[in-house]
Amino acid sequence: MAEETIFSKIIRKEIPSEIAYQDDLVTAFRDINPQAPTHILIVPNKVIPTVSDVSCEDEAALGRMFSVAARLAEEEGLSGDGYRLIVNCRDHGGQEVYHLHMHLLGGRPLGPMLARRQ
Ligand code: 5GP
Repeated sequence: MAEETIFSKIIRKEIPSEIAYQDDLVTAFRDINPQAPTHILIVPNKVIPTVSDVSCEDEAALGRMFSVAARLAEEEGLSGDGYRLIVNCRDHGGQEVYHLHMHLLGGRPLGPMLARRQ
């Protein structure tokens, strides 16, 4: 069984966070260090450490993450101008918390996806 992170405590409401949405498959809460006017993390309730650990049985939760992203983007008023969804994976992807999560970012132009190589 995969090791829990702080996100499991947030999902179980054992530590405080600003939860924007929760159901039987996923939880969404505001990032503690927001990088844009809207910065929400959408996570499966089940511990899946990284994208590399995803299996077919996780497809319902992963699909739900996208439908919740669309719903929250609408609620946050982001749908018209657009927004960005990011999933970082392991070291090179810049993943810090090893509980798979999708960042929903918006509310300002977000610039290029990656810093350009010189
Ligand atoms: P990663 O770099 O793993 O893709 O993103 C992890 C995100 O989790 C970061 O944006 C970080 O600010 C956020 N984060 C880390 N610890 C906490 C926490 O305890 N509460 C909340 N709400 N966000 C957290």
